[in-house]
Amino acid sequence: MLAYRLVGGRAKTSSEDIELFTKEDINLFENIVNQARLADPVNARKWFEELTLVQFEAGLLEIGCPDQSQVDFLNENCLSKFTSLAQQSTGYLITVKFTTNQGDKMSSYNEPSEWAFKLHPDYTFDNFVVGPGNRLCHASCVAISNSPGDTYNPLFIYGNVGLGKTHLLHAVCWEAKKHNHSTRIGLLTCEQFMNFFIQAIGKGNLSEFQAFLRSVDILIIDDIQFLRERERGQEEFFHTFNSLYDNHKQIILTADCSPGDIKSLEERLVSRFKWGLVTSIDAPSYETRVAIVQKKAQLRGLDISEEVAAYVANRVQSNVRELEGALTSIYAVAQMTGEAVNLSLAMQALGDHPVTLEKQMHITDIIDFTSRFYDVKKNDLQSKKRSQSIALPRQICMYLARTLTSLSLEEIGGHLGGRDHTTVMHACSKIDALHKSDEQLGLQIKQLTAELKA
Ligand code: ADP
Ligand code: MG
Repeated sequence: MLAYRLVGGRAKTSSEDIELFTKEDINLFENIVNQARLADPVNARKWFEELTLVQFEAGLLEIGCPDQSQVDFLNENCLSKFTSLAQQSTGYLITVKFTTNQGDKMSSYNEPSEWAFKLHPDYTFDNFVVGPGNRLCHASCVAISNSPGDTYNPLFIYGNVGLGKTHLLHAVCWEAKKHNHSTRIGLLTCEQFMNFFIQAIGKGNLSEFQAFLRSVDILIIDDIQFLRERERGQEEFFHTFNSLYDNHKQIILTADCSPGDIKSLEERLVSRFKWGLVTSIDAPSYETRVAIVQKKAQLRGLDISEEVAAYVANRVQSNVRELEGALTSIYAVAQMTGEAVNLSLAMQALGDHPVTLEKQMHITDIIDFTSRFYDVKKNDLQSKKRSQSIALPRQICMYLARTLTSLSLEEIGGHLGGRDHTTVMHACSKIDALHKSDEQLGLQIKQLTAELKA
């Protein structure tokens, strides 16, 4: 059996001088194929002999076959067996994909290119759940993939890890290629950008690297914050940026913070990053999390009840990758114990997680309670009136909603007179500070919280 590793997207055999899979990856792959042979001796002789390991990362096991007819046969007859064996062997939710040995390589440059890249098959717009925290990002990515270079340029997306930035970038690539197959795309992590840049200097082919970057229609750099403190990289990227921008080519960047907050980033880059649209991606709301859990389960062909989806969405609140991890744990326990996935199994599986399950609190209850507590009409709390006797209880409502529910700032503002997220944020920090310094207010909030929880 041959082990392949895609280096910068290009498949190379183990006989070449390249970085190989880890021993564990190869053992695991061989183990899965061996078990498949035992389970299905009839198909094994004809169909399993020439399988190769193409890729094994980020929950994707890609298995290479000599030709398309074999891919079609295996997809139709053996996909679920291989998927469940992969999941049993790893304890993780694994997506298995059979491909011809070329995989889904996408290149914007003359192939084969060491800068070609691979797209995750699940990271499409169809598989991306849209909610208040990511609506603007999603819409701008869709707009760009329909018409690169014409709308928001550059697009700068920032947010914490695990909120879907990379997913959206891959979705742009899939979609842009679908619209126009000849669109030339460069998709690199910042780390790859730096590595290729350094290698190009070492090999004396910097001008080729520069030509590649400047020839694309869309250049995407993921996690650009890693450019901090890389002076030469910043200099190089500055010129690439200018060249693409001047030629109306699309630039998309992501980071874990806004351009101005990237430490040691040259001012001229910070200002360029702000020329187009800078948009944040925020933690998903409760409803979005439920939909994501359902989507992830559906993608892996797993049944999940609404009750379990709601439970998982309640347990993990800020990071979608962790949400997927929780789902993985539940299905791993179900597979090991042979039990059906129900609420008690899910609770058992996530028993060690630090977040405690809380009763789902509704903002309508918070508004009701606060209205009664302060003797203010509900309509007034939800109006635009700004007198102090109404504004303070309204701000307390916002604060309670922020601390007791998983609603986003935008959603809370929507329930309280259509206010925007900055107003809600201001109210929350004001009440947070006040309730610590003002003893009476502190007591009122304690009492309200206790009543709501009861
Ligand atoms: P980031 O790049 O922001 O760290 P990723 O794009 O790697 O995050 O996302 C982490 C995981 O969460 C991926 O598996 C991705 O598919 C999933 N994910 C994040 N947001 C969503 C969403 N809105 N809908 C579906 N999946 C999502
Ligand atoms: Mg990412």
